[in-house]
Amino acid sequence: MTVPEAVENHAAQGVLALRWPDGRTVRVTHARLRAACPCSACRALRRAGAGVEGGDAVRLAAIELVGTYALNLAFSDGHRRGIYPYEMLATLD
Ligand SMILES: [Zn+2]
Repeated sequence: MTVPEAVENHAAQGVLALRWPDGRTVRVTHARLRAACPCSACRALRRAGAGVEGGDAVRLAAIELVGTYALNLAFSDGHRRGIYPYEMLATLD
């Protein structure tokens, strides 16, 4: 199972840095995380061809661990339904 060794939120830069066991550190912008929200509502929007847009200014508001397999990310636009499995986060680069 893929679990990050470190999760660092660089709030001022709007970047979440994930350090993986293979030594990679991947920096993902908050806006990209918001756009990739895996919750059912956002998936439906993307299926319908509508972008999930928090805009470039959207920021992470809170990060909570979900068991040992995911992060629940809350955003400054009020959206907080996204459960981001590490397996999915590991595909971002
Ligand atoms: Zn969502």
